[in-house]
Amino acid sequence: MHLKLPKEIDPLRLAQNGLKLNGELSIKDMPRLSESLVNDEGSILVDLAFDMDEVNTPYMQGKIVAEVSMICERCMSPMKVPLSITCLLAMILSERKIASLAEEYDPWLLENNDPVSLNAVIEDELILALPLVPRHTEACLPSEVWFAGEDESAVKGDDKPESPFAVLSSLKDK
Ligand SMILES: [Zn+2]
Repeated sequence: MHLKLPKEIDPLRLAQNGLKLNGELSIKDMPRLSESLVNDEGSILVDLAFDMDEVNTPYMQGKIVAEVSMICERCMSPMKVPLSITCLLAMILSERKIASLAEEYDPWLLENNDPVSLNAVIEDELILALPLVPRHTEACLPSEVWFAGEDESAVKGDDKPESPFAVLSSLKDK
């Protein structure tokens, strides 16, 4: 059975009933994620299955697909970062339960029976999946930049590290 994506979910009840949710969420509704992005455009495809396993652990198996824009740390231009996440989260009501979970699970701590924001759950998964140092996979800087850097170190010859102040003043001269 497939339902429209609700804003809030009761994950335990969904698991007990073995329900599936799928649909689209918007990056606009994820402010914590957007902080790391160039813009908040785009949508997120979400496919979630809730169920109980054979030892009665409630779980959510999810597939989350999105494309976000981040700044490449090498050339400082925006780049598209495709994200495709599969997650398997076991719902627990106490941190003490973490140790007893089967190892294929990541723990999902539910502090009480209050409804949970679906956006926030998916946002957390996306934030975890963002690359720490986003970079184009291809060589994205013009080649003369690389050659200039190499020439400079070759001419200097000695390995004396430049003081940070020298670097600063050479930047100011430009
Ligand atoms: Zn780049």
